[in-house]
Formats: sequence, C-alpha cells, structure tokens
Amino acid sequence: LIRIEHLKKAFPNVTPLTDVNTSIHRGEVITIIGPSGTGKSTLLRCVNRLETPTSGAILVHGENICDKKADLNALRRRMGMVFQQFNLFDHLTIIENIMLAPTLIRKMPRQEAYEKAMGLLKAVGMTEKALSYPDELSGGQKQRAAIARTLAMEPEIVLFDEPTSALDPTMVGEVLTVIRQLAARGLTMMIVTHEMKFARDVSTRVFYMDQGVIYEDGAPEEIFEHPERDLTRAFVKRLK
Ligand code: ATP
Ligand code: MG
Repeated sequence: LIRIEHLKKAFPNVTPLTDVNTSIHRGEVITIIGPSGTGKSTLLRCVNRLETPTSGAILVHGENICDKKADLNALRRRMGMVFQQFNLFDHLTIIENIMLAPTLIRKMPRQEAYEKAMGLLKAVGMTEKALSYPDELSGGQKQRAAIARTLAMEPEIVLFDEPTSALDPTMVGEVLTVIRQLAARGLTMMIVTHEMKFARDVSTRVFYMDQGVIYEDGAPEEIFEHPERDLTRAFVKRLK
C-alpha cells in the first residue's frame, strides 16, 4: 500500500526525520511509539503530505506523493487522519460534520450521505448526538465523532496522531474501544500512541522511533517483551 524510502524531513533548526525506510501493507495496524520529539507526528504528516518531505520517496500504490505533480486531493481522499484535538467544525452539528466531505468532495447525494453518517454514528455509539454541536459533547464523544467523520470518506488507511492524549482519563477507554473495533474489521491504520497496553493488544506491528529513524520494527511481543536494541529496551523498561 505504502512504501517509504530514505524519507528525510528537516526544519531550519531540527531534523525530525533523518532516514525512514519501511513498507505498510493492507490490513496492518501499526502503532508508533517512542520518546517525545523523535519525529512520530512528522512521519504521519509527511505520509498524508501535511508536510513536504525534504528528500526521499513515499510511494502510495507505486505513485510517489513527494513529486510536485502528485495529486494531493486524491491522496487525502484515500487517507484519513484523526488528530489529538479532534478538529471538528464547531458551527456544524455532528451529523453535518460527518456528511460534509462526502457531499462536498465525493458529490454523494444528501440522503445517501445522511444514511451513511447515521450508520457510522451507530458504529461509534453516538446516534443520539447526531444533532448536537461539538461543544455539547465530551472529549471522548468528540473524538468518536471525529473518527466517524474520517471513516465517511472510506479511506484505505487511517492515520491517528495520539487520539487519546487530549482526553480525560475516564474517556480514553471508549475511544480505544472504537479503534480496536476498526482493527478487528481489518482497517489499515497507523497510530501514534503513548498507550502501551493498547499498542501491545491492537497492533500487528510496532515501530519504535528514535533519533529520526524507525529504530526497531517488529511484532508487539518482540518490541515489548524481547526488544533487540538498547534504546527500545530502555524505553519499554521505563514504562513497566
Ligand atoms: P511527541 O511525542 O512530543 O508528539 P513527536 O515524536 O511527534 O513528539 P514531532 O512532532 O514529529 O515529534 O517533532 C519532531 C521535532 O520536529 C521536534 O523537535 C519539533 O519541535 C520539530 N518540529 C515539528 N514540526 C515543526 C515545524 N513545523 N517547524 C519546526 N520544527 C518542527
Ligand atoms: Mg507528536
């Protein structure tokens, strides 16, 4: 689905990504862990081109999205992103938030978009909040609505950047449950998280990022129980 080759991202004063190389296959659930400031968010933002990489290639179905000619709108239609801060439109109801992109970008008829949005709200346990505005919802409900909105575009892959770190601890579980259900349905996902128990249960693969590279890449049991490399070992040990 995605191949990343020698990806580098440099800002004037820091180089969060020095040399990232990996492939992501359909159906994989990849969690990305690692210390603060090691480029986890920057990696996701390069993959959906919210950032322009400095050098290297990101091939999506063989097309290099780092090319100047790349069609970024088409890319973002295929790739969903869920942010820490939800990014819902405050002046729209929840159902309108979810219907917006399908009607505007996909030109889906309103009735069809409505039915689809209600189905998604049901899947995230939020049907009774369809007509509420975002500021009438708890953080956990907002994030579940944001996930439904992302899914409305039927993305091939969804990128999550710390989807629970802005939430009150009592609401983390409900959001993680929704993501677990998506994983069980086979949705391809890349998830930056500091929730280690969740990472261990939900992932098919874990990236430990450090110093601007994917320092260790393995099955969750390997990374958490038998990390091969020193920095990974030190990181997971600190969490236990
Ligand atoms: P955290 O766990 O704290 O979210 P992270 O691994 O997601 O960290 P990044 O957000 O990718 O780290 O940031 C990596 C480095 O790049 C940091 O030093 C950060 O300050 C820097 N950085 C990120 N975005 C920008 C930007 N737009 N301009 C300049 N520097 C940036
Ligand atoms: Mg980050």
